[in-house]
Amino acid sequence: MFSEDDLLPISALQHYVFCPRQCGLIHLEQVWSENLFTAEGRRLHEKVHDSGDESRPGVRTVRGLRLRSLRLGLVGQADVVEFQQSEVGVELPGADGLWRPFPVEYKRGKPKRNKSDEIQLCAQAMCLEEMLDFPIECGAFFYGRPRRRTQVDFTAELRQRTEQAIQDLHDLIDSARTPTARYGKKCDSCSLYQHCLPKATGVRKNLDAYMQKAFELPQGDPDA
Ligand code: SF4
Repeated sequence: MFSEDDLLPISALQHYVFCPRQCGLIHLEQVWSENLFTAEGRRLHEKVHDSGDESRPGVRTVRGLRLRSLRLGLVGQADVVEFQQSEVGVELPGADGLWRPFPVEYKRGKPKRNKSDEIQLCAQAMCLEEMLDFPIECGAFFYGRPRRRTQVDFTAELRQRTEQAIQDLHDLIDSARTPTARYGKKCDSCSLYQHCLPKATGVRKNLDAYMQKAFELPQGDPDA
C-alpha cells in the first residue's frame, strides 16, 4: 500500500507509456510545453468536467470524479463515469436500485496505435474498483475524429500490462533519473521535442558507440 504522499497522477502513466523520457522530463524535471494537440486536449477535458452531472432514465452521469488507489499508488480524475441501472452494481445516494459504473474518457483525436489510452482508462477503472469495491468489466473512449464511442474491455491481459506500466512508472520516479532519448515516429507529435532534442541525443549515443569501438583493444592483448 502506498501512502498519500507517494501517489502519482494517472496522466503520468499515459506519458510513461507514450515515452518514458517524456514522463521523466515532465514529472521529474517539471518541463512542460504546450502545443496545438495538448492545448486542444486540455480544453476538451475542461469542457467535459465543467458540463456538470446529469440524470436521465436508467443512467446517472458524473463528470470530473476524483479517483484514487492506495494499492496502485495513483490519483487522478475521470472525465465521465456513467452509472447504468442494473441488476448488480453499487448504491447511489438519493437513487433507488443498483448502478453499474462505466468510465468514459474523451480524446480529441483518433485512436492511438500504442496502448497508452487503454492503459490510462484501465488504470482509472482499477481506481474506481478500489473506491467502490465493485468490479468494472468495460469502459469507453469518445474520440473526436471520427466522433464515435469505442468500447474497451478490461481484459486480464490489459490489466496485467497496466499494472506493469504502473510499477515501471513508480520505479522511474523513485530513481529520479530521466531516461535518455530514443528517436522514433512518436517524437514528431511530442510537445517536448524542442526540450528533448532526440536526434541530437541519438547522435551523441552513436558517437559514444563509435569512440568505444575505435579505442577497443584487440581480444587477448597481453598488455591490456
Ligand atoms: S521528443 Fe521523442 S524521445 Fe523526446 S520526449 Fe518526446 S517522444 Fe520522447
